[in-house]
Amino acid sequence: MDEGRNRPYVLEPSAWEPLQDYIKEEPLFVPEEFEEVNYRIEGIEEGLRKSLERRDLPVFSEVGETEESKGIVVDFLAFYVPYHYSRSDWGIYLRLPKILGAFKGIVRNYGAYIGISNIGDVLGAFTVFLAYIYWHELTHHIVEDICSMMGANYPVLSRQEEEGLAEWHAFVTAERRLSLPYRPYRRLNTAIISRGIWWKIPNPGKEARRKILSAIYYYFRRDKDPIYKPIVRDSVVKKLGLLWTPVREASVRGGYAYLVDSREEVYHRVYWTIY
Ligand SMILES: [Zn+2]
Repeated sequence: MDEGRNRPYVLEPSAWEPLQDYIKEEPLFVPEEFEEVNYRIEGIEEGLRKSLERRDLPVFSEVGETEESKGIVVDFLAFYVPYHYSRSDWGIYLRLPKILGAFKGIVRNYGAYIGISNIGDVLGAFTVFLAYIYWHELTHHIVEDICSMMGANYPVLSRQEEEGLAEWHAFVTAERRLSLPYRPYRRLNTAIISRGIWWKIPNPGKEARRKILSAIYYYFRRDKDPIYKPIVRDSVVKKLGLLWTPVREASVRGGYAYLVDSREEVYHRVYWTIY
C-alpha cells in the first residue's frame, strides 16, 4: 500500500486495500477452543453494558432491519443520530448484539488467519474492531459538522459517498493508530477490563492491526459492497474539500461539537442499544 496516500487527515481520492494473503483453506478453531473464546467475548459484552448508558430511541425499532434512514444514519453495527435530527438524542449508538455477533463470526472464520492463539489476542482484536466502528461513526459526525460550517443541511453527500468515506476513514485510522482517541478509549477500555480478566491494555502491533482489519473487510465483503466499499470519491473531495482536515482534527481531539453546546462533545454521547 502506498503509505503516502492513505493519510486520514488528508482528503484526496483514495481507497483502502486489505492484505491479499488470506487463504480460505486455513483451519478454523476447534469447537472446544471456540467455547473458551465465546466465554471471553461475553465478558467484553458485560463490561460494555455496564460502563455505557443504554438508550433505545423509538426510531431504532422502525429502522433496525431496513435501509430506510428516517433522518438518522443506519449502519449494521451502529446508528449515528445527527444533531440536525435531535438536539437531545444525537450521538453514536453501538448496536451491541450485532457487534458481538459479528465479532464472534470474525473470530470463528478468521481467527486462525489473524493469529489468535490466546485470550489476550481476542481482546486485542476486539479493541481494533471497536476502534474501526468508532472511527466510522465519528466520520458521520465530522461530515455533519462540515455541513454546519458550510451553512448547509445534513447530509450533503449521497449515501454511497458518505459511507464510502466513513469506511475509508475507519480502516485507515484504525490501521495507523493503536486504538480509539484517548477519552472514549479510556472509557471503553475500562469497560472491557472491568471484569477483571485482563489487566493490561492490549497492544496489537501495526501488522496485527492490518490483519484484523483485513479480516473485517473480508467478513463484511466490502470488496463487493457498492455502498460500503472504502473509497474517497472525487465528488467527496470536491464537496468537503479543505474543511475535512481542521474539522476532523477537532473531532479527534474532542475540541468541539460544532453548533452544539461545547460541553457536549461526541465522546460523551456514545451509548449502546439493543437494536
Ligand atoms: Zn455509516
